Amino acid sequence: MTDQTKYVYDLAEGDMSMKPLLGGKGAGIAEMNKIGVPVPDAFTVTTEACVAAMKNDGTWPDGLSDQIDGGLARLEERTGLQLGDAENPLLVSVRSGAVQSMPGMMDTILNLGISDETVESVAKLADNERFAWDCYRRFIQMYGEVVEGIEPHVYEDALTKLKDDKGVEQDTDLTADDLKGLVATFKQLSNEALGGNWTTDPHEQLHRAVNAVFKSWLNPRAEVYRKSQGISRDLGTAVNVQQMVFGNRGDTSATGVCFSRNPSTGVKELYGEFLTNAQGEDVVAGIRTPRPLAEMEEVLPEAFRELLDTMARLEEHNKDMQDMEFTIEDRKLYMLQTRNGKRTAAAAVKTAVDMVDEGLITKEEALLRVEPAQLDALLHPGIDPNDASEAIVKGLPASPGAAVGALSFNADDAAERGGQGENVILVRYETTPDDIHGVMVSQGVLTAHGGMTSHAAVVARGMGITCVAGAPGIKIDPKAETVTINGKTYGTGDTLTLNGSTGDVFDGALELVPPDLNEDFEKITTWADEVRRLGVRANAENFEDASKARELGAEGIGLARTEHMFMASDRLPAVRKMILAENEEQRAAALEEILPMQQKDFEAIFTAMKGLPVTVRLLDPPLHEFLPNLVDQSLLVQRLEIEGAPEDKLAKERETLAQVKKLHEQNPMLGTRGCRLAMLYPSIPEMQARAIIKAALAVQEREGETVGVEIMIPLVVIKKELEVQREIVTKAVEDEFEKAGKRLDYTIGTMIEIPRAALTADQIAEAADFFSFGTNDLTQTGIGISRDDAESGFLGHYVADEVMPKNPFESIDVDGVGQLVRIGVEKGRATKPNLKTGVCGEHGGDPASIEFFNSVGLDYVSCSPFRVPIARLSAARAELLSRKK
Ligand code: ADP
Ligand code: MG
Ligand code: MG
Repeated sequence: MTDQTKYVYDLAEGDMSMKPLLGGKGAGIAEMNKIGVPVPDAFTVTTEACVAAMKNDGTWPDGLSDQIDGGLARLEERTGLQLGDAENPLLVSVRSGAVQSMPGMMDTILNLGISDETVESVAKLADNERFAWDCYRRFIQMYGEVVEGIEPHVYEDALTKLKDDKGVEQDTDLTADDLKGLVATFKQLSNEALGGNWTTDPHEQLHRAVNAVFKSWLNPRAEVYRKSQGISRDLGTAVNVQQMVFGNRGDTSATGVCFSRNPSTGVKELYGEFLTNAQGEDVVAGIRTPRPLAEMEEVLPEAFRELLDTMARLEEHNKDMQDMEFTIEDRKLYMLQTRNGKRTAAAAVKTAVDMVDEGLITKEEALLRVEPAQLDALLHPGIDPNDASEAIVKGLPASPGAAVGALSFNADDAAERGGQGENVILVRYETTPDDIHGVMVSQGVLTAHGGMTSHAAVVARGMGITCVAGAPGIKIDPKAETVTINGKTYGTGDTLTLNGSTGDVFDGALELVPPDLNEDFEKITTWADEVRRLGVRANAENFEDASKARELGAEGIGLARTEHMFMASDRLPAVRKMILAENEEQRAAALEEILPMQQKDFEAIFTAMKGLPVTVRLLDPPLHEFLPNLVDQSLLVQRLEIEGAPEDKLAKERETLAQVKKLHEQNPMLGTRGCRLAMLYPSIPEMQARAIIKAALAVQEREGETVGVEIMIPLVVIKKELEVQREIVTKAVEDEFEKAGKRLDYTIGTMIEIPRAALTADQIAEAADFFSFGTNDLTQTGIGISRDDAESGFLGHYVADEVMPKNPFESIDVDGVGQLVRIGVEKGRATKPNLKTGVCGEHGGDPASIEFFNSVGLDYVSCSPFRVPIARLSAARAELLSRKK
């Protein structure tokens, strides 16, 4: 065959650019070799070979077997040694190596080539008999386990028994003769386990070992890891066949692992561990406790200095923190692996900033070094990572961060104690809008019921309050005000700790470490601002959140919801009165009560955001959220009847029941929502418009400047709706201007959150000054799934089974819902080229979604205050990546 695919590359043929073909490890050793760092000679079998074999049920592609033999022959020629040769034996390792590093997920075999024929000359050449037998027993065990699938305990039991018999603790205390005996035992056990089919020919072993590494790509732990990291199964692994160097040749030999900087803090300092007279996995496997790298200076000073130089060189060359493996064979240093080191969020930020200061990378490169999602961890006080406490129960990690507080079992109590500055954890079966005042001032919320989107979770996330939801098996007794977790009962005032990033709940108070928004963090986010095109705003509806958002870099408010304002306990009565009003007079009276409260809300937000734009969305309620529950109200009336309650009280509750019945909807999500309510009751948007303008004027008067007022009409699907609402709002606004004898600039726009609105965006744009895509509802209505039902039901299975790549509420469904956004932008701009477009809702804080929003040309994203830095960084990275393309 002439045009055969090349599946095998010699070490000198490769370099870093060939990573997809040679894998990270293969490309890494080739690149080191290229720049003159000492690396044992090798050849690499490509990922393509693995993929070809996988596609063909494990059968190797044509020519692979011959090419491996060819690679081996060339390696033998270069080293002057031969596999299986009794005089000059070559020993190799057979190492897995995927494109993205998957540490420890796949298999590696060391010392292949050692056999009854070669072991004596290995001993003679090294002048060390013990070493040779040590290599041999290690080989049989690794080969037996990895290639032949023999149970590890077969070998471990034999080793333990031998150590017991000899009365020694450590492997290193075994003599050459002991190990010789162990090899005989191992061989016999292996042969027994395989029914007499134990292979002893090294060439056959090499082929089988390569095949075993291919197969290890599909082993369960690799599968799990790939899923968690989003690595594709189709990539396959490369296999590196490399001459062995020996860290176990006595006390002048060693093996170890080191980093060019501290991967947990990012500080540039010595970081690593080593062991003398040890091989390969000894350091990581914990058989012997490794020593800190600094101690190597005394034991092997020359190799130590050479290692420091090499570390610095590799970091300089790869321009990133390196994680390296090395072996010292009789004082000579060899590097066996180098890769970009995995690091904590804090270390990622620090190394990126330091490397810019050191002139190693540009600011743009630094931005690409920090994963936006990592910043999240930096924004919340966290549980000390070194804390080893055990959780008493694990619920859903509904809102990240950590909370320590005294338990409270009802929202009023929590509000009171929290308001006085006590650290409170609100424990509820589930939370309702009535609880919001308690939630707002709590450190954390723990619920027995409800998922990641339960009211508690959504609110808590928006406010940066830690939440563990749906903790299984916890028993809350609301009467006694106790919760029983894992057999222990906790009452009011007892302390628990919540980890909202993992869902863990702990007994007592765990130590929290504060978020460290240091100079480095500031630098990274400021550099991001220099690069990004997308604006970043926040969703906030009170002074605290708005101030927090501004502090974290928000350039405005993209969504101030007004229905949450209506849910506060001091307002709900008036709001219910308004909704339940039987006629316009009653409604007007209720609205009259609400207007000053609304105005106060807006003044607070406008004060926090003065100088910046604020989008206020008019009331968008699923009506039932404001009303007593139909069943509850029926039961209440029944009870009062039985108890023979006073007639006036009974009449009042009956009246309410009648109204609740009248307003009851089969499917509130598709019922009288958004502007539909305002179409029925124009006095509501009118009141809200007045409150907004009064507030803006008052703030201008008081502060000397005010905000850019943007009034947003929710859930428009027909142009006519927007026209009608626009007229109502404009009239009210102009009336207020007239009364005040002053004006200010304002705009009126709409949310695009229903497919029909996106598809007719060209028409709707005629009546809109701006669009804000409500991607949560657009996802619900575009895919036709209700978020709560989906997330507590089938969606988990869909994602696990890869029917859907990810949860479309967390990261936008680019192919479907994304199209609606794209169409909305294009059609809107076809009518008004300068139409301002943004997105509000959780997708606005999701890095992958932000990349998409950047690509369709939105003007800004708006997200929860605590995600603002993440959005700033994501927007910059999106821009950098799009420039690269
Ligand atoms: P992993 O991906 O699990 O780290 P490696 O292929 O890096 O697996 O190998 C496992 C261990 O064996 C590492 O400590 C490595 O340094 C060591 N090792 C691999 N190849 C050789 C070799 N040719 N000579 C000496 N040690 C080796
Ligand atoms: Mg390794
Ligand atoms: Mg909506």
